[in-house]
Amino acid sequence: MSFSNEEFVVRNDWRRDEVLALFNKPFNDLLYEAQSMHRRFFDPNTVQLSTLLSIKTGACPEDCKYCPQSARYDTGLKKEKLLHIDNVMEAAKAAKSSGATRFCMGAAWRSPHDRDIPSLIQMISEVKALGMETCMTLGMLSEGQAEKLADAGLDYYNHNLDTSPEYYKEVITTRTYQDRLETLSNVRQAGMKVCSGGILGMGEDQNDRAGLLVELANLPSHPDSIPINMLVKVPGTPLSDADDFEPFEYIRTIAVTRLMMPKSYVRLSAGREQMNEQMQALAFLAGANSIFYCEKLLTTSNPKSNEDLQLLEKLGIRSEGYYIEQPDSQRESDLYRVCAESRDENLYYRAG
Ligand code: SF4
Repeated sequence: MSFSNEEFVVRNDWRRDEVLALFNKPFNDLLYEAQSMHRRFFDPNTVQLSTLLSIKTGACPEDCKYCPQSARYDTGLKKEKLLHIDNVMEAAKAAKSSGATRFCMGAAWRSPHDRDIPSLIQMISEVKALGMETCMTLGMLSEGQAEKLADAGLDYYNHNLDTSPEYYKEVITTRTYQDRLETLSNVRQAGMKVCSGGILGMGEDQNDRAGLLVELANLPSHPDSIPINMLVKVPGTPLSDADDFEPFEYIRTIAVTRLMMPKSYVRLSAGREQMNEQMQALAFLAGANSIFYCEKLLTTSNPKSNEDLQLLEKLGIRSEGYYIEQPDSQRESDLYRVCAESRDENLYYRAG
């Protein structure tokens, strides 16, 4: 791949064979190309920090085989109704003081009820008033619901495609791939930024991973944010016994994502707790530039916040757009409070 000074053209016409060819490059070549591409559009030494809060936990009617929030699986998860605005704001303020620039709120619904929309709008407007970006993941959205959330100022909406179209039915049967594409279309049409990615390690093969990336890259515009999750094997879910996922294949997937969607934020999401520091460093080298910065991802655990801060410091990586002025002890205790909002010992694995 050459890097000329000509105007760079973002592609929305990727073919799966081309993507497989990227996956199969020698590892060093792939990482060199991905890092070179990354440097064209991003400061290589910054990451975007997001914090995630579960605003409604468990009892989801969907059957996503990786998810402890599905009512169909006995994972011991404690169910919770939609949080009160005061709880949400307490968590958002703590997240802001801890250095997060985006506050993501997730609810385990098939789709929101219209009766919940006023509460969601209040959450969006009050979190935005703190000066933070807002993101929600609430399941499928109708056109009208997407417009209402956009009008309230919601910046991002997360809705993952999860895997390739052909492997999808092995993982979820209660909503179709097309349903997901329609929600992404409604989000985009309403003017919100799209956050969409997938999960690796669900038994899919490399062809499926290439297929997922082709679907994401060939959307009318690339998702602004692309979470690349690694399966967290939660006891009680059908995928609890899945084979371990090969770490180098995870890094390759990050690198290929960066090459295909060079202007998007690529996020290390669920599964980061299973990655050692060296693997996370390789993921940053491959072009990842966003992490969830919180000890729990709603219900799935994440690296401890102070470990994250230490790793970023070791690597000379800064938080994008936010400079933390508080002493470390205050920052860490604030972050602990944010994460405690997720309360449950079980892992939350919201993939929308
Ligand atoms: S991933 Fe989302 S839609 Fe699927 S079961 Fe979990 S909460 Fe429900």
